[in-house]
Amino acid sequence: LTSSTIGERLHVIHIAAEMAPVAKVGGLGDVVTGLSKALQKKGHLVEVVLPKYDCMQYELIRDLKVLDVPVESYFDGRLFKNKIWVGTVEGLPVYFIEPLHPSKFFWRNELYGEHDDFKRFSYFSRAALELVLQAGKKPDIIHCHDWQTAFVAPLYWDLYVPKGLDSARICFTCHNFEYQGVAPASELASCGLDVHHLNRPDRMQDHSSNDKVNPVKGAVVFSNIVTTVSPTYAQEVRTSEGGRGLHETLNTYSKKFVGILNGIDTDAWNPATDPFLKVQYHANDIDGKAENKEALRRHLQLSSSNTRQPLVACITRLVPQKGVHLIRHAIYRTLELGGQFVLLGSSPVPQIQEKVLFLQREFEDICNHFKTHEHARLILKYDESLSHLIYAASDMLIIPSIFEPCGLTQMIAMRYGAIPIARKTGGLNDSVFDLDDDTIPPQYRNGFTFLTADEQGLNNALERAFNHYNNDPDSWKQLVQKDMNTDFSWDSSAPLYEELYQKSIARARNRNYT
Ligand code: ADP
Repeated sequence: LTSSTIGERLHVIHIAAEMAPVAKVGGLGDVVTGLSKALQKKGHLVEVVLPKYDCMQYELIRDLKVLDVPVESYFDGRLFKNKIWVGTVEGLPVYFIEPLHPSKFFWRNELYGEHDDFKRFSYFSRAALELVLQAGKKPDIIHCHDWQTAFVAPLYWDLYVPKGLDSARICFTCHNFEYQGVAPASELASCGLDVHHLNRPDRMQDHSSNDKVNPVKGAVVFSNIVTTVSPTYAQEVRTSEGGRGLHETLNTYSKKFVGILNGIDTDAWNPATDPFLKVQYHANDIDGKAENKEALRRHLQLSSSNTRQPLVACITRLVPQKGVHLIRHAIYRTLELGGQFVLLGSSPVPQIQEKVLFLQREFEDICNHFKTHEHARLILKYDESLSHLIYAASDMLIIPSIFEPCGLTQMIAMRYGAIPIARKTGGLNDSVFDLDDDTIPPQYRNGFTFLTADEQGLNNALERAFNHYNNDPDSWKQLVQKDMNTDFSWDSSAPLYEELYQKSIARARNRNYT
């Protein structure tokens, strides 16, 4: 790091498919907003480029207006005009690209899951770079995310540096290596990339077939910085079991690949100010938790006869990654142990995947089974406001993921004083530390963990949590307070990104001077 880059105001442009709260499906949206806000607070200029979806929460965008100048971008051998909108989201300047293309790419009433997703997002990646070029911006960092904007990396070096957009270093963050956007190689040509040049095993060719390309692989190869969302997950994806076919590429580029744990938005997730709660509370006065528990029980028509009866919750997408068979088991085991269980589970975007449909039906059956049960309730939908009340009301939150790149629910749970019971994988392994693990310094221990993804593993952790809760209420209360006081904000992770950016910029400058 040269002294000239330390303390320098950086210009960072995120090109992404999601941004919370206006266009969010999962953790990616939270990261774009959380990281951007934290870097802006440190004095950097941070801008975001998003597709202009029809289904965004427009009421959360301030001062939205169209810019006078349309931006023309290339696709399938032609130039198309794009209407460029600009507005403010959470205090951040955001550009929204509305393609004037007959396919109405972002006018589909959802963010993902369309038959032409590869086209939609390769189009967007190209249009976003065109906007940066035509607006005359000179960013220090262009930060792209997941396969949807992974195209930015090869597009930048192959097409935009020659056009004169050459100020930036490219950072790529993969939020989940499960989704790599693999498609027939010929599709790559639509956005102007050279298929022959890129469809090679050491570039974008997918490991599964020599006529398929992999956008995530392309971004790993062509970016200056590659990150994922926790240190443990970064290790896991470098193994053949965890890498989903990319472990060799990630090992080849291990020098530029790091895992940084996500933070959470501690303004949005704050039990002391949260408008969705019955009663606000904070670490020094946790009595409000009991009132929220009572309110949730009433709302869900669960028994309120025993205030000390432990309430276990799970807030999740119901997909195999989240350990659905263990979630189902946890419902029954919790009841056997004398607890109450609440599941808030959403189905992913409608998919023809049989596995997911089967899962959905299974949970609908369990949901019906417990419809009038005194101690268990399943709510099968996505419900932001209810999720807040559940975090506040619960004593424990269960997260038995098979793999988990970072995971946010364990951190939100702790901020609300719900003790996490989590499987030791990915980001859960970097944020939940077992109360009974003597190898971990006591001050870091904050929950209950298990390693093997089976019923015994889960039972063991759940039973230890119940014993602790039932037999030592004072110590449990101290644990709740300790977890609530832990800092999960972006303040600790944003400086790590800042340092990566600065080091990369410094390396490029040094190279140019020599
Ligand atoms: P992923 O991004 O894989 O779904 P994360 O743990 O990173 O998992 O992020 C999950 C986020 O989505 C959290 O903010 C959580 O509260 C929220 N969430 C998950 N399922 C639901 C649901 N059914 N209703 C409301 N919020 C949900």
